[in-house]
This record gives sequence, C-alpha cells and structure tokens, in this order.
Amino acid sequence: MVAIKSKLNTFSKNYSEFENKLKISGLTKTYHNGFRALNNVNLSLSNGMFGLLGPNGAGKSSFMRSLATLQTFDSGSIFFNGEDSCINPNAIRKGVGYLPQEFGVYPKMSAVQLLDYLAVLKGVTDKTTRKKQIDYLLALTNLTVHKNKAVANYSGGMKQRFGIAQALLGSPKLLIIDEPTAGLDPAERNSFHNILSDIAEKMIIILSTHIVEDINNLCPKMAILNAGEICFQGEPQALISTLTDKLWSKNISKNELEPNQQQYELLSVRLNSGRYQIRLVSGINPGHGFTPVEADLEDAYFHTLKQQQR
Ligand code: ADP
Repeated sequence: MVAIKSKLNTFSKNYSEFENKLKISGLTKTYHNGFRALNNVNLSLSNGMFGLLGPNGAGKSSFMRSLATLQTFDSGSIFFNGEDSCINPNAIRKGVGYLPQEFGVYPKMSAVQLLDYLAVLKGVTDKTTRKKQIDYLLALTNLTVHKNKAVANYSGGMKQRFGIAQALLGSPKLLIIDEPTAGLDPAERNSFHNILSDIAEKMIIILSTHIVEDINNLCPKMAILNAGEICFQGEPQALISTLTDKLWSKNISKNELEPNQQQYELLSVRLNSGRYQIRLVSGINPGHGFTPVEADLEDAYFHTLKQQQR
C-alpha cells in the first residue's frame, strides 16, 4: 500500500506543480431561442477545489461547456494560464479534463482499452507514457482490479470513477466536473470525494452541483450561480456568517405547518424524526416559540437564492 502511495506521489508530480490561473470576465451566453443562460459571469480561480452551486436550470452546464470550449459564448473572455480560449481554444483543450453530466453510451470495451484509446485522442502518443499514466489513473480511481471488465457493465459509482480517470488523461491542469454525484450511493460518493481531494492541490477543479453537502465536504471556495448570474463568491464560511445571529427555528407538528407558512416568510421546513422544524431569518427575536439556531451552508444558500428572487 505504502509502495503504491509513493508511486502515485512520484507520478502525480508530473501533474502541474505551479499555480494555475483561470480568469473569466463578463461571460454571457444566449441560446438560439433567445434564452440568456449566462449573464456577465466574472470569476477568478487558482489551484484547489472550487464549488459552483446552483439550482437546476441555473446555467451551470452552460458555464462548464463554455469553459471546456465545447460551446461558444456571445461576449466576455476566458483566460487560462494566460491563453485566451477564443483565440487559442486548442491550447485550452490540451490542459482541460472534462467529466460531463451525461457521459453517453459506453462501447463494449474494457476500461484499460478505452483509456488507451482516449489517451491517444488526447495526444498521449508515446506508448510507455500512456501505459504509465493509465496504470496510475486506474490505481488512483481504485479500478485496477476491474480494468479488464467492460465499462458498460460497471456500476454507477465505478462509471463515475472511470469518468475521473478519463478526464485526467493527458495530465490536465483544469478539471471540470459537472454534477458528479447525482445517483451515487453514500459509499460511492465518499470514494469519489476522496479521489478529488487527493488531486485538488495540483490543479484547479471546478465542481458544479445542486447538492449543498458536496460543496460543504469538498470546497474551500465556492460561488452560487442562479438564473445565469453569480450571486455569491468566496469561502463557504463567509456565506454562512451572513446569517450570524439572524436565524431562528421552531419545532412544530404537521397541523401547525400551514398557519406558520401563512404567518411567516419561512426560509425552510426540515423534517426531523417526524416533526417539522421551521426556520426563518430575522434581525430581531420573532418570539412565538422561535429560538436562535446556528446557520449551516444550506440555510445560507437558500437565503441567498431568496434574496436574489426579490
Ligand atoms: P443547469 O446545468 O444549472 O441545470 P443549464 O446550463 O443546463 O443549467 O441550463 C440553463 C438554462 O438554459 C435552462 O433554462 C435550460 O433550459 C437552457 N438551455 C440549456 N441548453 C439550451 C439550448 N441548447 N437551447 C436553449 N436553451 C438551453
């Protein structure tokens, strides 16, 4: 095990050891039907895990596809390590690994065959380098023992791990991962998270998700995208602290839910052992049995979305 770890460490030194920089300015995307999916998105990122959190339809995939140079945008710019993605998309593509939301249909090829094929497409033409890289990635994603099985027959979690392995072919410096844990069971999610945190220091990883817990577990920096606009960017703790001394909760029965919903503008309703816990934001004590409660990232996220809706 120690030997494998040290081999992984040695190999992973081939991944970028310098600080990567991604700068997105004024990114705006309108689809042919006139729908504006992204509106003046500005973000600056460096190495580490960055979470892009937003509800379904917020524009996350549109943003990720633009970054991966898979779709054009109307205005704005994307610079990665000084290269302009509009002027030199091939330079960007070489440094980017992409795990899309929908991976499509897998051919009836084994993991090792498919990785070999994809590595050639990514420009890893030297056979020895390719074999070294594939062995490393299979070990990193715990797929070595399954490497000769057809990827089409893998479980959901194994397919996602394979997705990471293929995205890391060619030693990218920017990894784009779109909604990766949807449909994974808790153990599979955990193993996926562990792989990401192992590699996050060496590159920029952007993880888009609507699952607050994924951001909580993994991302020291984050942004919230809603209706095509960034409405927060910074550290999760900074977002949570916007609700310090402003969050109140009360446990109620099911019958009391409707009257409370009519009386208060509730932030959320959580089910807890068959009882309902209602939460609201108020600068002063609302009384009526509400007690102060510490905010978590989900509270702060819902609050930010509600504020933007207003
Ligand atoms: P998310 O990934 O956050 O769910 P998307 O980027 O997939 O959001 O979609 C953002 C919005 O853009 C949605 O309202 C979606 O219907 C719309 N959209 C996405 N792709 C297209 C397209 N090709 N043509 C028109 N509208 C699109």
